[in-house]
Amino acid sequence: MICTTCGGDLEERVTDLPFKLGDRTIVIVKDVPVLQCPDCHSYLLRDPVMAVVERLLESANRSIELAIVRYADAA
Ligand SMILES: [Zn+2]
Repeated sequence: MICTTCGGDLEERVTDLPFKLGDRTIVIVKDVPVLQCPDCHSYLLRDPVMAVVERLLESANRSIELAIVRYADAA
């Protein structure tokens, strides 16, 4: 796939991604498979990966400020 920002070739990578939930909760999802641009470092999540991340975020504990979850636990 092609980077929508700069036109570079996206590469398969595994990375940790932070997501903000509500006003004060940050969830870090570890080891997420992404397509990342080696030139501008923007990234894309495939639809099935996004669905897994959304499931993780829905079940995240919003009463704590920082939660760390593993992608593999929901995949
Ligand atoms: Zn790019």
